[in-house]
Amino acid sequence: MTFVSQKVNSLPPYLFSVFHQKKKELEAQGIDVIDLGIGAPDLQTPSFIIDRLTEEVKKSAHHKYSPYSGIQEFKEAVARFYKNYHGVSLNPETEILTLIGSKEGLANLIRAVVDPGDSVLLPDPGYPVYQSAVHLAYGNSIRLPLDPFNGYTPMYEKLSQEEIQNTKVMLLNYPSNPTGATVEYRTFLEAFTFAKKHGLCLAHDAAYSLVTFGGYKAPSLLEVPGAKDIAVEFGSLSKSFNMTGWRIGYVAGSPELIRAMSIIKSNTDTSQFIPIQQAGATALNSDFSTVKENNHIYEERLESILHVLKELNIQAEKPRGTFFVWAKVPNGYSSQTFAEKLLNEAGVIVTPGHAFGKGGEGYFRLSLCVPTDRLNEAVQRMQALDWEVTND
Ligand SMILES: *Cc1c(COP(=O)(O)O)cnc(C)c1O
Repeated sequence: MTFVSQKVNSLPPYLFSVFHQKKKELEAQGIDVIDLGIGAPDLQTPSFIIDRLTEEVKKSAHHKYSPYSGIQEFKEAVARFYKNYHGVSLNPETEILTLIGSKEGLANLIRAVVDPGDSVLLPDPGYPVYQSAVHLAYGNSIRLPLDPFNGYTPMYEKLSQEEIQNTKVMLLNYPSNPTGATVEYRTFLEAFTFAKKHGLCLAHDAAYSLVTFGGYKAPSLLEVPGAKDIAVEFGSLSKSFNMTGWRIGYVAGSPELIRAMSIIKSNTDTSQFIPIQQAGATALNSDFSTVKENNHIYEERLESILHVLKELNIQAEKPRGTFFVWAKVPNGYSSQTFAEKLLNEAGVIVTPGHAFGKGGEGYFRLSLCVPTDRLNEAVQRMQALDWEVTND
């Protein structure tokens, strides 16, 4: 007998809490574990953002409820960012909503569009939270296979007529967690055309849109003419401004979808603390020099790790965005056996690719959110291991 719903009981355990548990166990045994499974920046929130928060938090007027959809200043900062950075005009009243982190928004978008039994197309490999959100909304997840030989772009031709017919919404994520794949405008245009043709709505998770290197600039789905009719895009300050714990993000695009999300949210939460939104506005109104500094740090770490992976004969392409390296496991290993070997013999945690879906099998994900000296240490431990597969 249990009080817990079948819906909750049948949810797969959140992958990252499983790893966290394993790490704690090993550390309790006195093992120095280097966690390259981490999906959050190790760098600090820039001080100008903290300064704005500490200034505003002292004002008692800001201790009351925020408006349901978020404060005007934050939504205007999002609109200004879209205008200046992407050339996209947005109405802060109807086309932008403050989120308590984009994860909340993704789950609430799914709740807002999915009726029991409706299907959702999810990128494979992709962020595991999407699938949980669909499950919690009694929806049906359909794999949208991504092509590893073509920059992890969608392979629409692999979808059956039946799969497409039952689908309500398609989700995309570029720069991508876990693959680090980035796309050009054309990929969004194709997605929009596909969605329009089949009567789907479209959601783009742009959590890493500012975490890019080497002169690459990530396009926005909302740059596609007409996108605002059927699409929303999620943004987050977590990764670009090292603000994971602050819980601040936004969704922008289709007024219909934004309105549906507001209805769910106003019955579930009451938006984010006003000073956090004000600090978020300050971040978005900045010149992004701190974002560039961070990206520079990730790129340096990236260069050093790619160098070692090459020496180990492990294939990995240099990503143009995110703080992840997506690499092929050596011959003779599966994602699982490779990750286990690294953990057991080197005390290094990487995330096995199959944790992100079938399409991730044969790969592992490595995070650059570790201080450079620890990353180097992890890499030395990897170099010291014997990678020959023995058939005993
Ligand atoms: C980290 C992450 C998020 C969640 O970001 P929050 O705004 O902190 O909720 C969403 N999508 C992807 C792909 C992420 O990696």
